[in-house]
Amino acid sequence: MKGRVVVCKEYNKPFVIEEFEVPALEPGAILLKMVQSGICGSDLHYWRGDQVNSPLPPTGRVMGHEGYGVVHSLGREVSTDSLGAPLHEGDRVVYTAIFPCNHCHMCLKGATNLCVNRPVPAAGEYPYFTGTYADYLYLPPGHPVFGAPDSIPDEVLAPLNCAMGTVTQGLISASAHQGQSVVIQGAGGLGLTATAVAKDMGADQVIVLDRLENRLQLAEEFGADHTINIEEFNTPEARIGRIWELTRGRGADIVMELAGRAELLAEGIEMLGNGGTFVEIGDIVPGRTVEIDPSTLLKGKRIIGSLMYPAHLLPSILDFLERNQDKRPFHKIVSHKFKLEDVNEAFPKAEWQARQTDVTRAVLVP
Ligand SMILES: [Zn+2]
Ligand SMILES: [Zn+2]
Repeated sequence: MKGRVVVCKEYNKPFVIEEFEVPALEPGAILLKMVQSGICGSDLHYWRGDQVNSPLPPTGRVMGHEGYGVVHSLGREVSTDSLGAPLHEGDRVVYTAIFPCNHCHMCLKGATNLCVNRPVPAAGEYPYFTGTYADYLYLPPGHPVFGAPDSIPDEVLAPLNCAMGTVTQGLISASAHQGQSVVIQGAGGLGLTATAVAKDMGADQVIVLDRLENRLQLAEEFGADHTINIEEFNTPEARIGRIWELTRGRGADIVMELAGRAELLAEGIEMLGNGGTFVEIGDIVPGRTVEIDPSTLLKGKRIIGSLMYPAHLLPSILDFLERNQDKRPFHKIVSHKFKLEDVNEAFPKAEWQARQTDVTRAVLVP
């Protein structure tokens, strides 16, 4: 049996679709048939060539890390998911998108999301199906995997193992709790999810900033109490002033950067009240800099970065989705669907750098 895999051979060039033989499963491994695979901001950075500092493997890089699938086949000795629930061929599952080395000092500390040896998945390297833009995905023995309830639709599960996990962990890292004011910079797929999660965690008010009115309207459906169109509040001072007004002179408890713009760090710190936390998630491209006044940190303000999530978070995100799915339109986060073979059409459409796109999240369907 063969399957297709999307490969980045060269930055700034169209992807190439290659075919590989599906390997025999080791004991404990699971082969998934991909159902939907999300186009995440970091994938767009690869496509655009923003990651030129990280050299591509000579055979090219296997693309895609977000997505979900059904069990195609189970290796010997696998009969349950990571929580002990029975697992069968055809079952819908979510799995952690992190494939850590499991032996570096960060992995040994339990911080597999910060693994220092995460290998770049090279095309043509065993087990071949190492990215989500493919017909299949090979989960090595012991990889965390969880059965997904039938009540949650496909397009809601697709962004779970990157977008939803990442913003949920970001809020947890910021010690989000009941009664707070949370500011979300950017109302794309990450921002919409963060809005719903922050409300679920008990935020008193969530304030969302973006430049596209349709996204801000969507943010309201996801629970935003206030939205700020940055075309209307078109200077940092105006936006900072509006946050202090909406928080009745207390400032925000948490500001989350989900737009991938370095200057939002400087702006966000000024939106925080004393003791508040700025969470950096969107700025994944190295090399950008921003000026801040360090004395402002002496007011107890914190700046933290957050990347991905621990695997144990996934079942609780499934619970969150079941608890909230009648309340929030999660099915609207995936705005565009493309066939896997149309990957080179999907990426330009999902491009958000130009800020004109109405795509909140696009998925590829094998
Ligand atoms: Zn991602
Ligand atoms: Zn590691």
